[in-house]
Amino acid sequence: MTPVSHAYGFQLIAPNIPLQVCEFPIPEAGADQLVVEVAGCGVCHTDVGFVFDGVPTRHLLPLILGHEISGRVVDTGPDTGLWLGRSVIVPAVIPCGRCPACQTGRSTICRQQFMPGNDGDGGFASHVLVPSRGLCPVPESLPQGLTLEMLSVVADAVTTPFEAIRRSCLGPEDVAVIIGVGGVGGFGVQIAAALGAAVVAIDVDRERLALVSQHGAGLVLDSSSMDLKSMKSAVRAFVKESDRRGIGLKIFEMSGTPAGQTTAFGLLDHGAYLAVVGFTPKTVELRLSNLMAFDATARGNWGCPPDQYPAALQLVLEGKVSLAPFVEFHALEEAPAVLEAVANHSIRRRVILQPKHGKRSELLEAVN
Ligand SMILES: [Zn+2]
Ligand SMILES: [Zn+2]
Repeated sequence: MTPVSHAYGFQLIAPNIPLQVCEFPIPEAGADQLVVEVAGCGVCHTDVGFVFDGVPTRHLLPLILGHEISGRVVDTGPDTGLWLGRSVIVPAVIPCGRCPACQTGRSTICRQQFMPGNDGDGGFASHVLVPSRGLCPVPESLPQGLTLEMLSVVADAVTTPFEAIRRSCLGPEDVAVIIGVGGVGGFGVQIAAALGAAVVAIDVDRERLALVSQHGAGLVLDSSSMDLKSMKSAVRAFVKESDRRGIGLKIFEMSGTPAGQTTAFGLLDHGAYLAVVGFTPKTVELRLSNLMAFDATARGNWGCPPDQYPAALQLVLEGKVSLAPFVEFHALEEAPAVLEAVANHSIRRRVILQPKHGKRSELLEAVN
């Protein structure tokens, strides 16, 4: 096989038009950089925001999107040779490691952070150039049913809820309420259950609810057919019967919808903890004073610090968080159509795009 000298990817040229295929020379790693041959790249609602909702990327367009990347290191800089050939997960947010935020344990708010597909070209491509900092190594031999491409979703869809749940100090004495159990919340339910909490799942989609009821949710509520009052009393009854001693619900908003956010806030009880994990550019009307009245806490998190990735990956490797039922694979060539389908909510699972790696002529045939 002749070595491939060119890479290809799908870039955003301008908002509201389909992603366009592009070809580029395989990048060369500079100091503190690595080139990753992409095995898989998950599609996130943030990508949908960039394409369809006018959310600006930090880097100028055109830009190859995609920040949920797994793959193999194929080129290294002078000081990063140890990584050559290794399978890795590339964190969605890669902090600088040197600034005051990084040095005081708040690396997710590092202003010099690099997010692939936002601060530079991302993973909807055959190859991506990334900083060598914070990479999460993946064992070469994986448990049955897991593949390197499947692990791409750990880069965001697993680690972001993992971090939200970790910050809440969720434990076996708690009841967790996960709102929105799609591409992110499906993992949230499993992480919460793995930590021993009793879990309530709320969604408008019965199929998703049926799936999470087999993966750790003790109570599922269809919010398309229930009002807030009836959801509250169902949750209250569940708390009583599950006999947990934790004070206050731990509520995780993972739907990224105004309706989900309104429900999440409406479920606050005394001492409650509310984590905002999902993103929507839309606004909601809330009585913020409920936080004060309930002595409650609300918190958000921008991704997950790279040093937490190995612990999140471990839950997957141990089988405590299943990926296969919650993901579906598409060829990278389908990226434009897939983005549209995710935007229209016609795909229920987390999509993983897989590039073709082969002879250059075949690649060109594939993308043209
Ligand atoms: Zn994302
Ligand atoms: Zn920093």
